[in-house]
Amino acid sequence: MKTMHRIVVAPGDGVGPEITDATLRILRAAETPVEWDTIQLGQTVFESGNSSGVPHEAWDLIRKSGVLLKGPVTTPQGKGFKSVNVTIRKALNLFANVRPCKAYAPCVASPHPGMNLVIIRENEEDLYAGIEHRQTPEVYQVLKLVTRPGCEKIIRYAFEYARAYGRRKVSCMTKDNIMKLTDGLFHQVFDEVATEYPDIIANHFIIDIGAARLAASPEIFEVIVTLNLYGDILSDIAAQIAGSIGFASSANVGQHVSMFEAVHGSAPDIAGKGIVNPSGFLIAATQMLVHMGLAEHAETIQNAWLCALEDGIHTLDIYRESLSTRVVGTDDFASAVIERLGKRPAILAPVAYQAKKIQVSYTPHPVDKRLVGVDIFLDWDDAGRDATVLGRRLAAVATAELPLTLITNRGVKVYPEGLPETFCTDHWRCRFKSEAENVPYQTVLDLMQRISSAGLDIIKTENLCTFDGMPGYSVGQGE
Ligand code: NAD
Repeated sequence: MKTMHRIVVAPGDGVGPEITDATLRILRAAETPVEWDTIQLGQTVFESGNSSGVPHEAWDLIRKSGVLLKGPVTTPQGKGFKSVNVTIRKALNLFANVRPCKAYAPCVASPHPGMNLVIIRENEEDLYAGIEHRQTPEVYQVLKLVTRPGCEKIIRYAFEYARAYGRRKVSCMTKDNIMKLTDGLFHQVFDEVATEYPDIIANHFIIDIGAARLAASPEIFEVIVTLNLYGDILSDIAAQIAGSIGFASSANVGQHVSMFEAVHGSAPDIAGKGIVNPSGFLIAATQMLVHMGLAEHAETIQNAWLCALEDGIHTLDIYRESLSTRVVGTDDFASAVIERLGKRPAILAPVAYQAKKIQVSYTPHPVDKRLVGVDIFLDWDDAGRDATVLGRRLAAVATAELPLTLITNRGVKVYPEGLPETFCTDHWRCRFKSEAENVPYQTVLDLMQRISSAGLDIIKTENLCTFDGMPGYSVGQGE
């Protein structure tokens, strides 16, 4: 008797129930050993007063099964509603977002017929930590958090994925020429991990030129690994230029739970019309089957799907008179796939998967951390914002143990020896740095006390530390 796997299915909103019905019909017809519990996520849950969009009982089912096949969810306009996706990703530690983007030329029109790449995006960190503050009347801030475990896990995952899926090249994209510590860490970890995979070509692009190359020549890429925000933008561009957003699928992979979905949204403009292309969701379901060790079933379904495309049976979004033989709705498209189960495509390359669960781990590295100074941020709008006036006031309260070394405004040095042309806001970073190798934190507290007593408005501080002798803070112009 076959072992049955239990998953959780959330049809979602808009076109979600239509693509779910089509996909589950195909899974059943292919005799996949999968059973499911159905849950509601999204609009109806929001409307019931649950602002997370995820019912309490759903969490237990998802955690117990470890696999969620999720339809698109409408995020209501207005404040107070969180993205269901972001909530699930963060709560369940779904650290890797895996998005294959492939052209199906010559059977489906695509501006880049040779395109066949996978974007692996870090899914939990970066600017998505959602920590933002308004610090002064003029200045707002968001925290970009990049961690060593986060980088190691996603980069190892990308190399392991390349091996498991027969890819020969992994490309990293960062902006480490500007963000030398955060993006610099991602690039550094990439270079370190790459040495453990000599069989795979590893290269790095600065994100701006990398994105331009992706848009112009996507066929030069196989696997791209990048930080959260860059990956978010790149994967939508890649999905779009491959042919249709209706084809794009996404796996959100964690150590214990994984979630599989189409990239597109709930498409309210076509919901209920029976014309939505279920392909993105179906491909997500095949990603799910491979993840669950059911590679043979994934192969059978995806090859049947390729046969339907090859036979010109197309939904409206990909219909072209010169390439299509029949325009079909969602249900007829699913039936066309079912009729072709067991067949292999002749024009498009058939898929072949090996069941391989990718596991990555992280081991903390001990480091020697020492406090050597502090950046004190002030809200100051006085004396015509003359940095020399502020510099003299601060120099007067600083001590020989922790002297004032510079002031910057939006990262530009304005004291000592600033330029009169530099535009200054009301937000000042004032650096106090010791010559000593270790400063007691009490010295920082005493300094803050004196600055506050001098009538200056401290809005935040950042400790300046060295880690194994290396500065853990940006060192730029005049620093
Ligand atoms: P959308 O992806 O729903 O639709 C964009 C356009 O593409 C529409 O014209 C739509 O008809 C078309 N389209 C999308 N998928 C298609 C398919 N499979 N077949 C044929 N045509 C398709 O994007 P949107 O309109 O910006 O968003 C609608 C709602 O979906 C919003 O509430 C948004 O927050 C939500 N959304 C959810 C997810 C998710 O749950 N993963 C992702 C994106 C957007």
